Amino acid sequence: MRILIASSEAIPYCKTGGLADVAGSLFREINALGNDVRLVIPLYSRFIDASSFTDTGVEIPVRFAERTYTGRLYQDGNTYLIGCEEFFGREGLYGDKDGDFIDNAIRFSFFSKAVLSAFRAIGFRPDVIHLNDWQTALISLYLREDYAGDTFFSDTSTLLTIHNLGYQGLFPSQVLPYIGIKGYLFNPEGVEFYGNVNFLKAGIVYSDIINTVSMRYAGEITTSEFGSGLDGVLRRRSSDLYGILNGVDYSVWSPDGDGVIPRPYSVSDLKGKVMCRRGLLERTDLNIKGGYPLVSYIGRLTYQKGIDLIIDISKRLSGYGCGMVILGSGDRKTEQEIMDSIGRSDGRLFARTDFDEGLAHMIYAGSDMVVMPSRYEPCGIVQMIALRYGTVPIVRNTGGLSDTVDDYNGLSDTGTGFLFDDYNASSFWEAAKRAMTVYSVKRRWLSLMKRGMEKDFSWKRSALQYVKLYAKAMESKRV
Ligand code: ADP
Repeated sequence: MRILIASSEAIPYCKTGGLADVAGSLFREINALGNDVRLVIPLYSRFIDASSFTDTGVEIPVRFAERTYTGRLYQDGNTYLIGCEEFFGREGLYGDKDGDFIDNAIRFSFFSKAVLSAFRAIGFRPDVIHLNDWQTALISLYLREDYAGDTFFSDTSTLLTIHNLGYQGLFPSQVLPYIGIKGYLFNPEGVEFYGNVNFLKAGIVYSDIINTVSMRYAGEITTSEFGSGLDGVLRRRSSDLYGILNGVDYSVWSPDGDGVIPRPYSVSDLKGKVMCRRGLLERTDLNIKGGYPLVSYIGRLTYQKGIDLIIDISKRLSGYGCGMVILGSGDRKTEQEIMDSIGRSDGRLFARTDFDEGLAHMIYAGSDMVVMPSRYEPCGIVQMIALRYGTVPIVRNTGGLSDTVDDYNGLSDTGTGFLFDDYNASSFWEAAKRAMTVYSVKRRWLSLMKRGMEKDFSWKRSALQYVKLYAKAMESKRV
């Protein structure tokens, strides 16, 4: 199979979020399964070290509204970068300290058009182009519009992966002539969304197949509660809508081979976990007695992640004698609110509001439980990493959290964590109390931890499902 993965970010080159992990890891695994897969991302020259890439000499002119922007294609093996300093030589991928770049619509339309031109120029004819989020969603539209009379891509299908429906690429309609989209496509059946242009919607309408990053979220986004205004369009495409869970890179996230944590451990030898807890208590200077759990939160401090419930539970936990560690950044006000509650926690709350990968490893290994009370969660990776580290998740029953955490059942002694349904502080607290009750019975807690550690959320598993979906996209090619 010939696959082209187009993304606005990918590890190990550049990353602002989970999309980079998916694009980079999937590229590696699809390749390992014996496919001819190529990855293309923009050349963010301030962030990407392109010294291993060679200049292909391929120039990519893209004409928008009387102006021609010229990109250039660079290659390292099967990875490609599209350079255009005017668009990608900036101090951020999508924005800087003043907010999003005002020409993001043009930057990513350019990238989407340039991808098609570049691969046509080098003669790579993909069976499937895999689009990711709004930044590359327009490829499906340009493929239909610009290449209708050209046989080069006539057998090429498209798969759009929605990583988070909360981000749609919404721009005023005045942008249309500057991104090469004809006026007749600006209607509710096409790219229009209540008077604006919606890039993700274009991808949903024009791609052959659509998927999102968990089964549960694939269903949820067709409802008005989770659909962010696109539920109607998604319902219309529901027979082409699938869910595939993201994976975890176990070469980085596994307690038996983790070089950052005080002592490695595994499901068959858990002694190291005790040392890791001690190490985390020392590092955070928390004042917790033995027998009381150490609970953590790692992730963005945003509305989506349920920040109000996180702050609420941190207070309840410290009142109970438990410890809480928070690692994450968000808006200033939220960060300040968390910092302020440290002083009232009797030394039981620790928080860091920068990005610290090393500390994240220490927290996954040293905590007893992690919390994720998300309002919505397309997939979520924190709970999957935590399970691997024997750190029991307490999560809201939504999206990927529902698909990856099985609720504990004391009668049958089954499950890997604790779920709660309603988004409110008391339901969350009930789940936390259930967890604490089980925590106090060591034998039960150990078997709960071990069940979680044995779960397989590897990328290989996800990649096999993507290969099947690519085949389905090839079968489902629309005109
Ligand atoms: P998102 O919605 O942000 O993609 P995920 O749960 O899918 O949430 O992934 C978050 C990832 O980012 C995890 O690997 C987590 O360990 C990491 N992470 C989030 N915030 C921080 C931070 N402040 N420091 C270190 N790692 C972080």
